[in-house]
Amino acid sequence: MFELSDKAKKLQAQLNEFMDAHIYPNEHKHHEQVEQAENRWAPVPIIEELKVKAKAAGLWNLFLPESDFGAGLTNFEYAHLCEIMGRSEMAPEVFNCSAPDTGNMETIARYGNKEQQEQWLKPLLAGEIRSCFSMTEPDVASSDATNIACEIRREGDEYVINGKKWWSSGAMTTTSKIAIVMGKTDPDAPKHQQQSMILVPLDSPGVKMVRPLTVFGYDHAPHGHAEIHYENVRVPVSNMLLGEGRGFEIAQGRLGPGRIHHCMRTIGVAERALELMCKRANEREAFGKPLSSFDSIRKDIARSRIEIEQARLMTLKAAHMMDTVGNKVARQEIAMIKVIAPSMALKVIDRAIQVHGGAGVSQDTFLASAWAKVRTLRLADGPDEVHLDSVAKLELRQYRQS
Ligand SMILES: Cc1cc2nc3c(=O)[nH]c(=O)nc-3n(C[C@H](O)[C@H](O)[C@H](O)COP(=O)(O)OP(=O)(O)OC[C@H]3O[C@@H](n4cnc5c(N)ncnc54)[C@H](O)[C@@H]3O)c2cc1C
Repeated sequence: MFELSDKAKKLQAQLNEFMDAHIYPNEHKHHEQVEQAENRWAPVPIIEELKVKAKAAGLWNLFLPESDFGAGLTNFEYAHLCEIMGRSEMAPEVFNCSAPDTGNMETIARYGNKEQQEQWLKPLLAGEIRSCFSMTEPDVASSDATNIACEIRREGDEYVINGKKWWSSGAMTTTSKIAIVMGKTDPDAPKHQQQSMILVPLDSPGVKMVRPLTVFGYDHAPHGHAEIHYENVRVPVSNMLLGEGRGFEIAQGRLGPGRIHHCMRTIGVAERALELMCKRANEREAFGKPLSSFDSIRKDIARSRIEIEQARLMTLKAAHMMDTVGNKVARQEIAMIKVIAPSMALKVIDRAIQVHGGAGVSQDTFLASAWAKVRTLRLADGPDEVHLDSVAKLELRQYRQS
């Protein structure tokens, strides 16, 4: 299980070199370009420049296992690469491996037909356009997706879509062209067959970008998280993914890989926070000695190392199971890491902030912004409680008589 293939080892070395040469030295520039942009939602020039370099280096679309479209890596192999990308906020997009586009590409690759793939998957894989996933709604508890109320009604050769969505990540950016929208095609069907997923071009009449949402005050420009109202939006019937009533089936297939990618990146964030914490503890002196010699700080460092290793091993196990027994059988492991990884990273980042004193909550390190981002992962792609419930359900099932 632990041996990485030569192909993945080579990519890992290449990726680390690329990060050292092009990502870390440009993080400040990236931040400046976002802050000084005339249009906050326009693509960031440094990202566009680096995308060309990454593509030329073959560090492109490394996700997408079991597909003709990707790099042909397993989830286990990709986990090692995704963790490296996760170390920098700007990195995943440079390699065309950022959420929610990866999940959307995987969805269209798996469930889209040839025409849908030609029209939307091709430009997404080329990094020419971006996309969003519109499932969550402000008016219903969306962690229970059976509550989703958006209406998708068939009228002749078209579907008419009416509903309010929010937290559609990635929708704000000017290059975001397509939404995968989840809604109800048949409210009278059995509970898990009422929902469908449909492709909605974001320039369709009736798509209203109501507002960008903020996360602890960060707007995450130019990516953004949008509240979108779909008001009598008409799309051809050919935009339906897989078929009416198949929304839950697609959601299950989409969210598995999406969740594990978040965990892999989160481990990269925690690893970098620990690195920063150790450097600071070695350099900074208080009460006549380096912070690294205080017992409480040494324990924080040791605990962080232990917890990162635990979470990484569990993530690799889940990835390995997805490769060998499939996403469905691996669902308990996927649910477990979705709870473990963000909580672990939040603890490690918090300790790193503490060691940095005031600097830790300022804009001078990546820690404050990383904490805010990782905190959202205890909600996004399902809150912790829902995953805990799934783990408990599977555990209890083993000991039921009938
Ligand atoms: C930064 C960010 C990005 C996001 N990106 C997207 C996106 O791109 N597309 C998209 O569609 N959505 C996205 N989301 C939305 C996210 O998936 C939802 O917020 C999440 O599923 C929870 O739904 P809700 O907000 O309606 O909370 P609710 O369903 O109202 O749940 C609120 C709380 O109730 C509790 N709860 C719920 N179920 C249980 C249970 N079974 N047991 C115990 N307690 C429970 C939990 O504490 C939960 O946090 C994003 C969210 C954030 C914060």
